[in-house]
Amino acid sequence: MKATIITIGKELLIGSILNTNSKYLSSKLTDLGVEVSKQVTVDDNMADIVNELDIDSKSSDLILLSGGLGPTNDDITRESLAKFLGKDIYIDEEEKLIMETRFSRNGESMPKNNIKQVCLIEGSTKLKNNWGVALGEYIVKDKVTYVVFPGPPNEFENMVDNYLSEIIKSDDNIIVKSLDVIGLGESRVEEKIRKLNIENGNVSINTFAHQGYTEIKIIGKSNDFTFVSKSIEVVEETLYREFRDHIYSDKNLEIASVLVEKLIENNLTIAFAESITGGKLASSITDVPGSSNVIGSSYVTYSNESKKMNLNVNRETLEKYGAVSDKTAYEMAKGLKEKTNADICVSTTGEAGPNPSEKEVGTVFSCIYFNDKKYFMKHYDFNGGRNKIRNRTVNSVLSQILFLINRKEYQNEGK
Ligand code: ATP
Ligand code: MG
Repeated sequence: MKATIITIGKELLIGSILNTNSKYLSSKLTDLGVEVSKQVTVDDNMADIVNELDIDSKSSDLILLSGGLGPTNDDITRESLAKFLGKDIYIDEEEKLIMETRFSRNGESMPKNNIKQVCLIEGSTKLKNNWGVALGEYIVKDKVTYVVFPGPPNEFENMVDNYLSEIIKSDDNIIVKSLDVIGLGESRVEEKIRKLNIENGNVSINTFAHQGYTEIKIIGKSNDFTFVSKSIEVVEETLYREFRDHIYSDKNLEIASVLVEKLIENNLTIAFAESITGGKLASSITDVPGSSNVIGSSYVTYSNESKKMNLNVNRETLEKYGAVSDKTAYEMAKGLKEKTNADICVSTTGEAGPNPSEKEVGTVFSCIYFNDKKYFMKHYDFNGGRNKIRNRTVNSVLSQILFLINRKEYQNEGK
């Protein structure tokens, strides 16, 4: 089944709001095994909407529209779909009464324009809007299903959650599984999966890059439930074998929360000495409930003075190698260990820009220090603006720590 999502509204086209509806709907459709082959945004203009419907009806089995169901004159989605289908619009008297009652309860009469929100296209199935006013609906013509949802994200998401599977009504049993992988880039993950050659007509596998991790999404589809469950199980087992140390979650969890869980489970404490990340690492840990079990103190040492004073970084190291260097990262982490005696001491130092100073913008060093015989140095070269570099540092460092814990690196002595 192929789907097209049409979001409607000038505010989307001029960039005044983010199109969250498309993203939300695409992910839900994917989970239901529907292939989204197109997302498009159209102006609140009848000719444009009708034209778009005409194009998409030739290549899609399912066309979903969002927005433009309000009372104002620029809201013309329902009218446009009716025109395209060659159908009339009628007033749903039951819904009209409900709306009139709602207005009269507040001592008001219903504005004439609001009637549009309780109209439906002849022959459609009503989707009641329990989260707002405008009705949704769906209608099938020439084997294509057309669905209309209101635009406000709260209403939209609730209606998608409540009605989408009913609308799709596939005979297939669909099972979706996600595995989240750290310590390997998306292209490497993808390459390994293709080599395994485990996809078939019933099971497809896709990868998605997130900040700091890669998601492997497995979708199984068949009218035989036992068969599809078994197929998914076999694929999952193979993937677990291939990505052993790299899989950290199968529930789309945040890296920080999995990390806190692992630290608690292994009775480990953590501390940070942060320069480029300015406290973001410590903050990402303290965002997680239960973090007081694993973190006692951390340092933000932004200036050279602070690095010397708080972490005993050598003046000579800073002068000779610079603050952004592996030597400084190492001394920061080692100094942190002396101060806090946490099991895992992590330092970050780097150049976030916008202007390069001693090193290129995007150069980052991080040291994950267990003891003097065992520490892990990482040198990253990130691109992007200041925020992106700092956020990527946080995600990459968290995922590296988690990776090392999963490999039980904290247990063994020696380098
Ligand atoms: P209303 O009755 O509120 O007018 P509507 O169905 O006519 O609802 P729109 O007028 O298109 O919907 O949008 C209402 C509000 O919902 C917009 O101001 C916008 O903030 C939000 N919105 C609309 N479409 C989207 C979208 N695709 N993604 C995110 N937000 C959206
Ligand atoms: Mg509107």
